[in-house]
Amino acid sequence: MSSCRRLLLVLGDQLDAQSAVFDGADPAQDVVWMAEVAEESTHVWTHKARIVLFLSAMRHFAQHLRSRGFRVQYTSVGEAGATSLGAVLARDCEALQPRELRVVQPGEFRVLQALRSTAERASLHLEVLEDTHFLCSSDAFRAHAQGRKQLRMEYFYREMRRSQQVLMEGQQPAGGTWNYDQENRKRFGKQGPGELPSGAIFVPDAITREVMSEVAQRFASHPGKLESFAWPVTRDEALAALRDFIEQRLPRFGDYQDAMWTEEPFLYHARLASSLNLKLLHPREVVEAAEDAWRRDPECYPLASVEGFIRQVLGWREYVRGIYWLTMPEYLDQNALGAQHPLPAFYWTGDTDMQCLRQAIGQTLEHGYAHHIQRLMVTGLYAMLLGVHPRQVHEWYLAVYVDAVEWVELPNTLGMSQFADGGMMASKPYAATGKYIQRMSNYCEGCRYKPEEAVGAEACPFTTLYWDFLARHREHLASNQRMQMQLRNLHRMDEAKLVAIQQQAATHREMVLAAPVPSGR
Ligand SMILES: Cc1cc2nc3c(=O)[nH]c(=O)nc-3n(C[C@H](O)[C@H](O)[C@H](O)COP(=O)(O)OP(=O)(O)OC[C@H]3O[C@@H](n4cnc5c(N)ncnc54)[C@H](O)[C@@H]3O)c2cc1C
Ligand code: SF4
Repeated sequence: MSSCRRLLLVLGDQLDAQSAVFDGADPAQDVVWMAEVAEESTHVWTHKARIVLFLSAMRHFAQHLRSRGFRVQYTSVGEAGATSLGAVLARDCEALQPRELRVVQPGEFRVLQALRSTAERASLHLEVLEDTHFLCSSDAFRAHAQGRKQLRMEYFYREMRRSQQVLMEGQQPAGGTWNYDQENRKRFGKQGPGELPSGAIFVPDAITREVMSEVAQRFASHPGKLESFAWPVTRDEALAALRDFIEQRLPRFGDYQDAMWTEEPFLYHARLASSLNLKLLHPREVVEAAEDAWRRDPECYPLASVEGFIRQVLGWREYVRGIYWLTMPEYLDQNALGAQHPLPAFYWTGDTDMQCLRQAIGQTLEHGYAHHIQRLMVTGLYAMLLGVHPRQVHEWYLAVYVDAVEWVELPNTLGMSQFADGGMMASKPYAATGKYIQRMSNYCEGCRYKPEEAVGAEACPFTTLYWDFLARHREHLASNQRMQMQLRNLHRMDEAKLVAIQQQAATHREMVLAAPVPSGR
């Protein structure tokens, strides 16, 4: 292959035709570089659906770029030498002799380091561009963080609403209130959610089917299933998914944001995170679509629902990305609670008699999806109460969700769900008994345990582990004002009962950790 002026690196989560990497690009002189490499699917034990999603979306995007006249240097996962990004890039630089390399800031610190060291070894300049896919740049977030003792999402979110003029009436928030969180916590009554909108299904095309069969063969031992794979893999599909959400589910999204229900994996959630994170959708168009719907028809689209959704995309999503680039690489090693246990084997199989975990993990293995409260208050909560090492929890979340990219997964896992950053993100640990799960779902009705019991044969392990967690960390948490009520309840507990709870917690921990991790891991 002949030499080129610039090699434009497009990573698997940068599938945006408007990406800054193409600014001033000349198809006659520049070559686009894309690589599927085994390391990106194996450095954590990645769910088959996540691998398929990335590879299929990459292949579709390469096809789109070729149709725009670009030369694409593309390495497929089955090719010899497709081991790591660094190895393939070094090989291709040798062959193409580019004068320089250009990339948009990757979604993972590790990848940025690998590209930098490959460029350095090849004596090539690597231009790293700001990712215009986000509404707040890393520098702007750094400026926001400067001088603040705590980085609460709410203040950042208000700044974003003002600067982006989203849901604003002049300088005031639309409706007079910034945040309708209190109205976003309804549960379904005894009758359940009733008939739910079916949601758009994207039937795998020939490219996706080919990737599916390659993945099923090459990554056979990896967790997860492919039978129900129906995620958007192109921009057109992602736009259809956005329309479907706005029309079908946004009106009730806010009400039932925190609710869970047996055998209902999606409820009113958007299912847009994978499209946003692969950059098939821009957050601005997603936020605009939601705001436009409310302005057009406020009766159908209650402000509490629309604000609840916009808060996730304009607030939480931009905020966690800011935290990631502000704190990496040190953030990865945070372990403020000193948790040391391995992840129980059932996280990879769903084989547990705890119904809430069986549901959340079961649908994760089926679809590569669980919604926020399942991640935070079921799988995340249990891991924190049990005392699982945050690195292991992080590696699981990064592996099993189709929308997982480290910049968004890591702060959510280490900071929000495990309190491993000691309170940078969350003002207190999200610690709760099984009664929280009972209130927000019908899981407990189909479970052999009782959420109100902390000791005995029917005690709910969440409840047992909750008191054990408070007892283990009472000194560490004593100075946290927001933990005072929970700690007072602990102090009020009868000493003999607490001893029994702690014994039961130890027995439970021993039992769940005794099971061997599935082979292939
Ligand atoms: C332990 C843990 C790990 C997580 N890992 C990821 C991850 O790897 N990738 C990821 O995109 N999200 C992650 N989240 C956030 C959230 O759970 C997912 O964004 C959401 O469940 C995706 O489903 P959805 O598209 O139906 O979102 P919805 O619930 O419908 O929300 C709408 C959109 O808001 C954004 N959003 C919502 N909450 C968050 C949040 N806390 N942080 C960032 N964006 C948010 C997403 O883009 C999402 O598509 C994690 C949360 C927890 C507690
Ligand atoms: S009783 Fe406990 S373990 Fe069972 S579903 Fe409820 S919260 Fe989960």
